[in-house]
Amino acid sequence: MKIKEVKTYIVSQKLGHKSFCYSQAWYNARTIMIVEIICDDGLSGWGEAFGNAFINKSVLDNVYTPILIGQTPFDSEKIWDELYNKLRDNGQKGSCIEALSAVDNALWDIKGKCVHLPVYTLMGGARRETIIPYATGLYHTALNQDPRELVEEAVSYAKADFRAIKMKIGFGVADDIKMVQSVREAIGPNIELMVDPNHAYNAMNAIKLAKGIEPFDISWIEEPVPPEDIKGYQEVKANTTIPISGGEAEFTAYGFKKLIDSRCVDILQPDCSITGGLTAFNRIMTLAKVENIQCYPHVWGSGIAVAVGINACFAMPDFPEALVVPPVYLELDRTENIFREEINKNKLIIEDGYIHLPEFEGLGIDINRELIEKYRIG
Ligand code: CA
Repeated sequence: MKIKEVKTYIVSQKLGHKSFCYSQAWYNARTIMIVEIICDDGLSGWGEAFGNAFINKSVLDNVYTPILIGQTPFDSEKIWDELYNKLRDNGQKGSCIEALSAVDNALWDIKGKCVHLPVYTLMGGARRETIIPYATGLYHTALNQDPRELVEEAVSYAKADFRAIKMKIGFGVADDIKMVQSVREAIGPNIELMVDPNHAYNAMNAIKLAKGIEPFDISWIEEPVPPEDIKGYQEVKANTTIPISGGEAEFTAYGFKKLIDSRCVDILQPDCSITGGLTAFNRIMTLAKVENIQCYPHVWGSGIAVAVGINACFAMPDFPEALVVPPVYLELDRTENIFREEINKNKLIIEDGYIHLPEFEGLGIDINRELIEKYRIG
């Protein structure tokens, strides 16, 4: 079985409802690059790259595709090193690795379909029967956000049986504290609440924020400071009782080694559509396992990224093993995104706030080609 063709698609949809923002930017459209790798026996696999769809497509079409043609998907680890090394001197992070993620995940999809096994089995086996999806939302629709809108949204997640909610903050420490308090009071004590300022702060203000929200039982603060600010992370971590998470803007095992060695986060959040695919994820898990640091993968994108995240969440190890271990959380963005909802015809089933170990082949994607054709651009 050899790779015969590599097709890249950019799909885009303007948001029908309100634009929304996190601490760094506004969103008014969803634009995603996806790849289909097709083999000479007709089997094909799917992957998605987070980030700038146009740069990702250019890297994939111009650099990776010529290397991929004629290779066998079961050589995926060898292929990963080859593609990485091709752009090593100028692409250790960013779009080059995001495009590599799409390729790598598509190869895992093909391998799984070929042997009729789920990718989580090929990754070494499912470690748990259930995972907990958490609702990511509570973005702002104005810079002077009305807290009542956020409260209403948070309550809707609670009513939909979500056991955990992550809210966007990073709009000023005093404003953040007020919003977190409003949401916690609205959802009550039994739902976990995480906060994500998307690195809007320096260590001084992140510590102020952390102290201010400590009374509201926060499960983690995500990316309090910019990804490059390792010492800032360490300061924040040393000055609050709230766990600190980060890593969605870090790339490959090489990048994560620095994050892990510095012990600057309590929770690692590699994203398999950013950090180099499931091959990189497995390598990062080996490093995390050795240093015994908890991991909850970051997920944000289409149904392809969600499928990849589900496989990662079921296959990743515990940190450490015990008779009773903490649950594993899957990030589930709740903002408007037709590609998350419809690109995979295999629907996500959430029962009583849990996802049960699903049965499928490959990544578990039954691709909606009509949707791709309808929203394809360029
Ligand atoms: Ca985040």
